[in-house]
Amino acid sequence: MQIIKTLKALRATRSLLDGSLGLVPTMGALHAGHTSLVDLSKAQCNYTAVSIFINPKQFNDTSDLSSYPRNIEADLNLLEEMGVDLVWLPSLEEVYPPNYQTFVEVRDLSLPLEGAARTGHFTGVATIVAKLLIVFQPQRAYFGRKDAQQLAVVNQLAFDLALPVTIIGCPTIRTPDGLALSSRNMMLSKNGEKRANAIYRGLFTAGKAWLKGERQRELLLCHARHPITKASIDIEYLSLANPATLQEFNPTKATKQALISVAASVDGVRLIDNLILPDDLKKNSLDTLLTTSELASKGIR
Ligand code: AMP
Repeated sequence: MQIIKTLKALRATRSLLDGSLGLVPTMGALHAGHTSLVDLSKAQCNYTAVSIFINPKQFNDTSDLSSYPRNIEADLNLLEEMGVDLVWLPSLEEVYPPNYQTFVEVRDLSLPLEGAARTGHFTGVATIVAKLLIVFQPQRAYFGRKDAQQLAVVNQLAFDLALPVTIIGCPTIRTPDGLALSSRNMMLSKNGEKRANAIYRGLFTAGKAWLKGERQRELLLCHARHPITKASIDIEYLSLANPATLQEFNPTKATKQALISVAASVDGVRLIDNLILPDDLKKNSLDTLLTTSELASKGIR
């Protein structure tokens, strides 16, 4: 596995790759959610590259940035074991040289949900993703559906800028109790982690109501909210939105899909999760719940 730090070395290595390249952008502190993206890339592409860069431009809160988990040595060992071909580990200056001035803005899709809660977040995301796609020139790039709005923004960006890449959205990997894996889970206490399971329980309960035919917005949101607040989790937003536009809506019997999503704080750790209703309640999607022994074998508690 080649570990590359500079842009110049990355360009040189990229130009030598003969065959398809899959890119998995990450901010490190890797877990089985990230490795599922790597697995898919390895299955679909001749080469797999992973970038590890905590992008300060997508953080609107400096303490959130400074407390974001970092675990470079373990990350590199894991990626080496997985047979990743190259890892880009750039410095801040390599990505944003002095006098850096260019930002990418995806307009409407960036405004609600995470965009409203974290001002400027998606300008940071779109800027780094555009730069990664330009520099790596991958045939495919892999993103988790756990960050549903990010995936929508990236799809729009790739389409609008006619980038020659296929964006692949990958299922959310969860613990046996349904908690979506996240680098931030490392910051939870045992008790916090147990309570955080209520986030998925809430989304799933709303999903079951959807399957039974419930379409009243307030009732669906109430089903989701109840288990979460009962676990003393602070909800920042709970949304039922049109998955294409991400705008809040009132579904009807004719509505095919809805995105139910939540941002919540468990003892000060900010977590997000979502389900696409009804698709994410189908059996195949629930297969992304890992067993306890699978988690243990991946070193995840
Ligand atoms: P991050 O390092 O948090 O920026 O995540 C890097 C990529 O991994 C993003 O595309 C995320 O959506 C994806 N990802 C994070 N957590 C999960 C998960 N539990 N399941 C699937 N993909 C995930």
